[in-house]
Amino acid sequence: MDENAKSYEFQSEAKQVLELMIHSVYSNPDIFLRELISNASDALDKLRIESLSDETLDFDRDGARITVRISPDERTITVSDNGMGMTRDELVSFLGTIAKSGTKEFIAAMKEARSNSDLIGQFGVGFYSSFIVADRVTVDSRKAGTEESWLWESEGDGTFTLSPGSRASRGTDITLHVKERGSADEETPEFKNYLSRWTLREIIKKYSDFVSYPIYLDDKSEKKTDEAKEEPVNSMKAIWIRPESEVPPGDYNEFYHHLTHDWEEPMERIIYKAEGTNEFYALLYIPSRPPLDLFYRDGAHGISLYIRRVFIMNDCRDLIPEYLRFVRGVVDSEDLPLNVSREILQQDALTAMIKRGIVRKVLDTLRKMKSDRPDDYKKFWGMFGEALKEGIVADPKNRDAIMKLALFSSSKSGQTSLEGYVSNMKPGQKSVYYLAGGKADPLANSPKLEAFSDRGVDVLLLRDPIDEIWIPSVREYDSHPFVSVSSADIEIEGEAERKDEIETPKDDGFLSRLKDALKETDSLKQIEDVRYSSRLVGSPATFVQKGEPVSPQMRNFFKSMGQEVPPEHKVLEINAAHPIVKKFSSLEPDSSQARDWAVLLAGLASISDGEPIADAPAFMETLEKLLQRG
Ligand code: ADP
Repeated sequence: MDENAKSYEFQSEAKQVLELMIHSVYSNPDIFLRELISNASDALDKLRIESLSDETLDFDRDGARITVRISPDERTITVSDNGMGMTRDELVSFLGTIAKSGTKEFIAAMKEARSNSDLIGQFGVGFYSSFIVADRVTVDSRKAGTEESWLWESEGDGTFTLSPGSRASRGTDITLHVKERGSADEETPEFKNYLSRWTLREIIKKYSDFVSYPIYLDDKSEKKTDEAKEEPVNSMKAIWIRPESEVPPGDYNEFYHHLTHDWEEPMERIIYKAEGTNEFYALLYIPSRPPLDLFYRDGAHGISLYIRRVFIMNDCRDLIPEYLRFVRGVVDSEDLPLNVSREILQQDALTAMIKRGIVRKVLDTLRKMKSDRPDDYKKFWGMFGEALKEGIVADPKNRDAIMKLALFSSSKSGQTSLEGYVSNMKPGQKSVYYLAGGKADPLANSPKLEAFSDRGVDVLLLRDPIDEIWIPSVREYDSHPFVSVSSADIEIEGEAERKDEIETPKDDGFLSRLKDALKETDSLKQIEDVRYSSRLVGSPATFVQKGEPVSPQMRNFFKSMGQEVPPEHKVLEINAAHPIVKKFSSLEPDSSQARDWAVLLAGLASISDGEPIADAPAFMETLEKLLQRG
């Protein structure tokens, strides 16, 4: 090491990811090479694109290359490219920090699932995967258009150093000092094969065949006989334009890994060629795991744009709507101009047409998957349904198609589509009943469902915050209105099925005493009314709402966003048939007792609704008093 080398600490997240890389055992260490070749190919793309707007950078397509050089004697592998390179500052920030959203969550998940080290593939740690096979890594890089090169060096132990490098021209050499084996454990694989030309050739062909720049393989220990005969290892064929019948199926998955850095196999592949006035190819994938940043505002989008086989940009948001952000893949247009920019794409009519075509194709693929492979589809829905549902509001043109794709938890059938719900309606039932807000378990136990369960009427249990946004905007499915079971004014249709008639007694003065007590008790003042319920069977009380019900979950959401919370019109419903209510209503009228009953019933309603009690100390005090009184 250069004695003038300056030492730096990795950012703490980067340090933790590195530690995981070094100490976990990987089922497939080969992928380090794919990651380094991907980065080299990206660096060449970056140079080509920058050279379009910066005349001082000259990019020569024929000279662009990636070289993998092994030196068995020194136990090193070097991956070189003559792409964009990195400045000193870029080496520090690109290789010393992780800027991805969701890093903290990823590290926590990794730590929890110690054994499942393949989780790391989901995160796409790229360069750091070098440390799976190497105990020392050096990066010698010279940024295009600059005169100096810098050498980054680390043993993955929390620090790295920087000193002057020795690259004579732009680009990057990444050198891995290959370890003996994966860990001190004798059982783990030995890495000596990585120093064999034959092994590396196989790995490159398998993982990086479609990389669009030539990859040369070179063994320092061999004498070169004829330079001119040198052939790239990869075929460089764009997989998406080849006829499907000619592509070995495994290659599609390898391309997916190359593109996404996800080590898992995708759940679904979509191959599409649009012909006519706007020709384009699309090769799209649905991952078998949601990305960690699915619900981050700045999370990555999955589509890369190519124009006539030339890579243009990653993360092309204009080609796929937000609600399909989990779809990964490439779109290759025959008709867009090569010098297209993000700004032009935004207003371009061709782009909009491509986007429409892609949406149609993806939704249609999902429709088929739902009918042909329902189990796979359920998995898909569990992972991506919440995102897809955003489309019900965001994409009115495809609203009906998306609603048909939606699955919901329900009180009676476990999980159902809207179509399934409607076909299982009770005679006389017109509405689609739902209960919104919170997790499925507390929802399923809500007292508001009792009368529906009693009558055999199914109720959708809507867990996701987005549900309370699309329901009010859509209002009905197939002419069946959505009706909240939290709504005060509800008529339960399908009466014919009812097992036990729930009597709603005439008010004998008990309700008016409770009403007076509500008005006089500060913590209960926000309750607008109290009445006997026709929806309760086993629980003593519940809260319902007049007007459009807004769940407590949604109220908290509005609050956390600093938005105005819609006014709440709470009604306390009590169960006349419940022993507690019967007992109270039969006792002698006494206004101080009425206050106690009101506090108690309101508290019980909150508890059975799974909500905090408005004035817990008053509730406790009243409960104690009533218990002592016997
Ligand atoms: P990712 O590729 O997912 O961004 P990596 O950890 O693989 O993450 O790389 C981090 C960054 O380092 C890259 O985004 C890129 O800017 C830079 N980088 C890595 N390898 C190279 C290379 N060969 N040439 C130029 N820049 C590189």
